[in-house]
Amino acid sequence: MSFNCRFAPSPTGPLHIGGVRTALFNWLLARKNKGKFFLRIEDTDKERSKDQFKIQIINSLKWIGVDYDGKEYIQSKNVSKHVEVAKELIKKGFAYECYCTEDEINEQKEKCKKQGIPYVYNRKWRDAKDLKIPKDIKPVIRFKSKISGNTIIKDLVQGERNISNSTIEDFVILRQDKSPTYQLSATVDDHEMKITHIIRGDDHMINSFKQKQIYDAMKWQVPSFAHIPLIHSEKGKKLSKRDNASTINDYIKIGIIPDALRNYLLRLGWSYKDKEIFSLKESIELFNFEGIGKSPSKLDMSRILSINETYIKSMNEEDLFRKLIEFSNEYKTKIDKSKEDVVLKAINFLKNKAKTLEDIYNNSKYILNNSIDISSEDKALIDKKSRDIIINFIEDYEKLTELKKEKLESIIKNLINKHRTNFKGVGQPLRIGLIGTKFGPGIYDIILSLDKTTVINRLKELV
Ligand code: GLU
Repeated sequence: MSFNCRFAPSPTGPLHIGGVRTALFNWLLARKNKGKFFLRIEDTDKERSKDQFKIQIINSLKWIGVDYDGKEYIQSKNVSKHVEVAKELIKKGFAYECYCTEDEINEQKEKCKKQGIPYVYNRKWRDAKDLKIPKDIKPVIRFKSKISGNTIIKDLVQGERNISNSTIEDFVILRQDKSPTYQLSATVDDHEMKITHIIRGDDHMINSFKQKQIYDAMKWQVPSFAHIPLIHSEKGKKLSKRDNASTINDYIKIGIIPDALRNYLLRLGWSYKDKEIFSLKESIELFNFEGIGKSPSKLDMSRILSINETYIKSMNEEDLFRKLIEFSNEYKTKIDKSKEDVVLKAINFLKNKAKTLEDIYNNSKYILNNSIDISSEDKALIDKKSRDIIINFIEDYEKLTELKKEKLESIIKNLINKHRTNFKGVGQPLRIGLIGTKFGPGIYDIILSLDKTTVINRLKELV
């Protein structure tokens, strides 16, 4: 059996993280089933569709590693086919012209509102043999929905869904200007593209019932449907563009890496036993409809950070370094070529206290910047005793002919004994003097990552 699926975003706003997850689920199933995954840009709303959003969609998918088969499919290029199908539906008696004016529709809407019932078009022109066609009004084309009986969809996630046909209104398929609506274009394109599985957010459930009627009327093979629950914000509300973690870019700019976000989105609404970390290969092998939950998932930033931390720690240092360079170029200050080698060597410990690329960047500032800033709070920790310790450290350190951890260990051990203090008593003032804060990498790593002159000059500043 073939398995063709698609992701069909409208380029009318920035691609939402929920959309990326829908794309990912489609893609995983296509790859697992050796099928095809297509990207369809639904740009028939000419006013709201923007090229910048199309580019953002393509780039977001590329960034997270979701590749589509062939070129992106541009829906507006197929409008004449959509119109042709609308005409065929009229001919077959499944669609009709509706001459209601906007005022009439608004009046009906108002009436329903007063009665507290949802608005449904009153089917005035459905069998309008006796009505006089107004000359000055351009009609819309409505689909003649079934009035009696029920429609059943065996949803691959939600299970069997059954609704009474009387609740499906005679929806518009061609507007007054003859442009097709989403219901028509999406159905025609899904048919033409031979889509076998439609996997999308569960806010589209009602659309599937409408679209199924078009398939039936055209005697087309109905695809399988799978409606996945939406993603809610951390506050438990429907995710909106106003949430500051709603687009891929919100994650890229704080230094989340693609594999980590992919792993996080995979687990957001899908589970496999109690496994948390999935390699790409495992994701493709194990992903299935059965593991997709039925209730909405909530975004959890601390979980994203923790998964990102796991990925960063397990990454090859060269790769991580390259990612850090890209990240700094784009979102921070470009790392000076002369500092690259030092950062690369230090990355094995800089990554230890980091959840994001941004953390690594911040942890490496003491290498990147020629001078360091010490907060007044930290400066206040440098008392007379600390200054004496630093002076003694400089004396011993200057004499070193070989910069090795064992040599530093013996200097520090002597200072602990001499000044009757502990490791923190020596390490803290040195760390403040060398990186500007009492928190940061281990003191030996810091000292060994800086050149001798820098160590001495920075410490001298403190005494
Ligand atoms: N353009 C629709 C959307 O972005 C597509 C829905 C579908 O997958 O059919 O919501």
